[in-house]
Amino acid sequence: MSSFTLCKKVELHLHLEGAASPLFVRDICKSSGTQIPAIFDKAGNYKWQNFDQFLSIYEIVTNLFLEEKKFEALMRHILDKQVKENVVYTEIFLGPHLWSDKPSDRWEQFLQIASNTADEYKNKFGIHTYFIIVCIRHLGPEKALEASKFASKVKENKVIGFGMAGDEKKFNTLDFMESFNFARNSGLGITTHAGEICGTKSVDEAIKLGVTRIGHGVRSSESEETIKKLREKNIMLELCPGSNIALGLYSSLEDHPINFLFRKNIPISISTDDPPFFFTSLSKEYEKLHNVFDWGVEIFNKINKRSLEFAFCDSELKEKLSQQL
Ligand SMILES: [Zn+2]
Repeated sequence: MSSFTLCKKVELHLHLEGAASPLFVRDICKSSGTQIPAIFDKAGNYKWQNFDQFLSIYEIVTNLFLEEKKFEALMRHILDKQVKENVVYTEIFLGPHLWSDKPSDRWEQFLQIASNTADEYKNKFGIHTYFIIVCIRHLGPEKALEASKFASKVKENKVIGFGMAGDEKKFNTLDFMESFNFARNSGLGITTHAGEICGTKSVDEAIKLGVTRIGHGVRSSESEETIKKLREKNIMLELCPGSNIALGLYSSLEDHPINFLFRKNIPISISTDDPPFFFTSLSKEYEKLHNVFDWGVEIFNKINKRSLEFAFCDSELKEKLSQQL
């Protein structure tokens, strides 16, 4: 067990579809008589070498969970892990266009299952879980608007935000303005992936969408001007160092700008993105940050309190949880 396992945590950037561990995937296949897909290496880990392979395995894994019982099992699997990591508050991304091409009953059923399971875990373990519906950028602005409308429709199922994931290189960020405006006008928090694969320009465009958080945004570190804008507009970066290193953006944590951005007083949070794909967990991230930058509990608490300030839940809950950290 990592010495940081017991540290109370807040996680804002975690994809439901990317959080199934390889062992869990094989167990689900075995118990349902489904053939285990050829997506694992000899050690049993997900086998991918580049971003395209990662996306294709991601899709295969997502497709294994598109039945109510399996979807619920996945939700439990993720929340069990969050409880073990001592996460007190988490927001989880759900991408309904990964489940089916068009809005369907299935979308609503899955949200209902996710929400019921979150309630159960809150009552049993005290963990607060909310959801952010993400559109898939490479599917284009029309689908994005569909996802945004769906997000506002299912707000009663613990949906408090709208975001965008997918291939950063496809389409212009501002093509998605309508979807983001619709979500914000519906009372949802908004965030988008940017500044991960693409550079600072994508962060500048994301800022124009009016988001209060950016998924990754790590490439902001390449421009003093962008850093200044983030600080002026008080925008949080949902940083996931292990993900960036696994995808080859940086060769090691020593080269990762997380410490630089933190010292520049940019609000940051620490997350795992798609943890089993990137061989990581929240405790591992904390442990490595401790080893490389000498960050201790005091800094982690400060970052987690700041993360809560940018969470999309109501201020009463933020206040209550902040006192527990
Ligand atoms: Zn992500």
